[in-house]
Amino acid sequence: MKPNKIERLKSELRPSDFREKISALDLKNLSEDERFYLKNYGIYNIKLMPEKFMLRIRVAGGRIERQILETIVRIVKAYRLELLLTARAQIELHSLTASNVLKVWQELQEENITTLQTLTDNFRNIVTDPYDGAAEESKVEVYPLILQMQALFLDNAEWMGMLPRKFNVAISGTSATPMHFYGNDLYFALAKQEDAWGFNLYLGGKNSEVAQPADLFVLPHEVPGMFEAVARAYRTYGLRGSRARTRLFYLLQEIGMDAFVEKIKCFYPHTIRPQGSVENGKQYASAVQVLKDGTYGLCYQTRFGKIETASLEEVLEYARIHELQLRLGVDQNIYLLGMKEKTFPFEPVRGASQVTACAGSSYCALSLWDIKAETAYLPMEKIESHNIQVGFSGCLKGCGRHHHSDIGLVGLRTNLFGETQKAARIFLGGEYTEGKSTARLLFYAVPLPHLNRLLEVIIEEFESSGQQDFECFSRRYLNPHSSNFVTLWFLSKLYLEEKIRLEVLPEVPARPRSFVLMEMRSSSER
Ligand code: SF4
Repeated sequence: MKPNKIERLKSELRPSDFREKISALDLKNLSEDERFYLKNYGIYNIKLMPEKFMLRIRVAGGRIERQILETIVRIVKAYRLELLLTARAQIELHSLTASNVLKVWQELQEENITTLQTLTDNFRNIVTDPYDGAAEESKVEVYPLILQMQALFLDNAEWMGMLPRKFNVAISGTSATPMHFYGNDLYFALAKQEDAWGFNLYLGGKNSEVAQPADLFVLPHEVPGMFEAVARAYRTYGLRGSRARTRLFYLLQEIGMDAFVEKIKCFYPHTIRPQGSVENGKQYASAVQVLKDGTYGLCYQTRFGKIETASLEEVLEYARIHELQLRLGVDQNIYLLGMKEKTFPFEPVRGASQVTACAGSSYCALSLWDIKAETAYLPMEKIESHNIQVGFSGCLKGCGRHHHSDIGLVGLRTNLFGETQKAARIFLGGEYTEGKSTARLLFYAVPLPHLNRLLEVIIEEFESSGQQDFECFSRRYLNPHSSNFVTLWFLSKLYLEEKIRLEVLPEVPARPRSFVLMEMRSSSER
């Protein structure tokens, strides 16, 4: 297989050897090669917006000290930057230019704040539950394991930029959480074997795919060794041809899970155990949560990852006065741990715990929509009251995790209906809690003026089903049926405005396995 252009670059000059060249770069006239190398240092710039730069800060497991966040806020104010929280619990600094990006990058390094390996062919920020180790449901505290895994690759020439493609890792030691992690290349999911807590491995997830079981179980102290074995197997055998097919998912597609697990075993000279029983139940997001030490955790909601420095300063001051720990969640919110009393002193943001929105056109040149602003088109009251998980991406790359949601949206532009206009692609029915399936594409292009009403029709169907949450509704009512049928069903309801609803019939005992049927009845027939 002919290596792709990026691989040819790496063989000429390793990303770790580029560091000494950075200060001499002409940042106003970067080549594509230079842009690739800069990404390994967390510095982002693209040809479409050559005047704009972004820095991405790594926050292992989302845990961040108050003093570090205060330093970041000071830098943001000094350089008049904008700050975003990402869906991998990191911090992005936007509105940087060729004249200040390296100064800011240098200042961050002097404060021991790292941006290393947060972009391109690297292990991205390792994520977990924001209440790791603190929630009543937390069985294994995974933060020390995250640091051990990170120590393998961070600022290590052997690993910097040397993977075939980006590699996302998650680990959760919490038995019930609103977060879900099956969209990662490698997910250590809490599991039990013979009364011992540990982790099952799931491999090959990405924004559009669910990670699959590898039939492997590790005890907590074995996690770093197993991580290294997976990392070495992927670096050695990962595909390096077409860039579009270099994620772990494609290697698994090509050689199969069993063959890849055999390769992992070659790098893992310890006991191999088959998978245990996974313990990752669903929990609904709440603004305040009691923790196992009797204190409370608060969720400070950002505007889908966007937060003004004044608001952040308010949070920091509150954390300082009450001596609270700070953590960032993959839901783009800030968690404060250690409150003595159950209070919620902040203004809630409608839908902030339900909607994951990508950076959008204000911050990403690939986006056709200003995603964070256009959440205004969503029926937010219903989304929030039913705890419906919405993923909203500005393009098919899917940073808003639209495939791993109850309702997934992708903003696009279309001339299918005449003049070019904004429209949304709608995905429905992700079964993300247990990593069963991604949401299916049901509507190819819904013009923006009709989006709100169509979503209301879909949510009304869920309401009339009586199911406890949208994921149950998807499992029972939507997913047993073909995509075409479900699309037509909702379109007919939208246009006919009939009070008809999907119905599940009881199981028919004579059949070899239970099945779900649907029938359409108008309410007037009842
Ligand atoms: S989903 Fe697309 S538009 Fe949104 S941040 Fe990712 S690359 Fe940019």
